[in-house]
Amino acid sequence: MIEVNNLGKSFGELTVFSDINLHIDSGEILVLVGPSGSGKSTLLRCLNGLEVPDAGSIRIGDASWDASMSEAAKKAAVRRVRTLTGMVFQSFNLFPHMTVLENVTMAPMMVKNMNKAEAVEIGESLLTKVGLLNKKDEYPSRLSGGQQQRVAIARALAMQPQIMLFDEPTSALDPELTGEVLAVMKKLAREGMTMIIVTHEMKFAREVANRVIFMSEGKIQEESSPERFFDQPQTERARKFLRQLA
Ligand code: ADP
Ligand code: MG
Repeated sequence: MIEVNNLGKSFGELTVFSDINLHIDSGEILVLVGPSGSGKSTLLRCLNGLEVPDAGSIRIGDASWDASMSEAAKKAAVRRVRTLTGMVFQSFNLFPHMTVLENVTMAPMMVKNMNKAEAVEIGESLLTKVGLLNKKDEYPSRLSGGQQQRVAIARALAMQPQIMLFDEPTSALDPELTGEVLAVMKKLAREGMTMIIVTHEMKFAREVANRVIFMSEGKIQEESSPERFFDQPQTERARKFLRQLA
């Protein structure tokens, strides 16, 4: 489903990461962990075209991006990649002047030219899935953070992506609201959605991950099963990281 080869990204003098290689199968759930500043967000942003890598290649489904392509070919690849990936951010980023349902139906109508009736039908079924159909006519400011994040998940799903990318989806939430968001993510996992999740929720990670990747200092330092990563981390860096979370 996803193949990343020798990916590199710098901002000016700062090399965020280099030589990142990843392979994710359909239905797999990859949890990406690592200290703050290790490049997790930048990697996710490269995967959905929000940042442009300097080196390497990315294949997602039938879309391929390669640093050596022409600018026109890269643009076309990024457009395709965007429609295949759904992204959920730490800050929910809902459109404040639109109702919950409008937030969910806008992109399918604008980007996919879906007619309103169909977009509403899909939107309402997704709001049902995240438990918020009763809030469809509310504005985001009237919702709790957990509810806003569930709407953001429904909005990303409305584009019918083949893979969902989550960047610390519960980090901005009060502790009592993280559970409802994690529950929605677990439901997606059970339904077979392919996901890459950046999170500090280690109990959740252990439960849902098929694989854990530990990033530090611009490299993938460990890649293993959740059991092995949490019980027997192989590197001192990972041990230190896990001690600091405990
Ligand atoms: P993480 O998500 O693991 O905390 P990030 O990917 O956000 O890490 O950041 C990795 C590094 O790249 C940090 O040093 C950060 O300051 C830097 N960085 C991220 N985005 C930009 C940007 N747009 N311009 C310059 N530096 C950036
Ligand atoms: Mg980040």
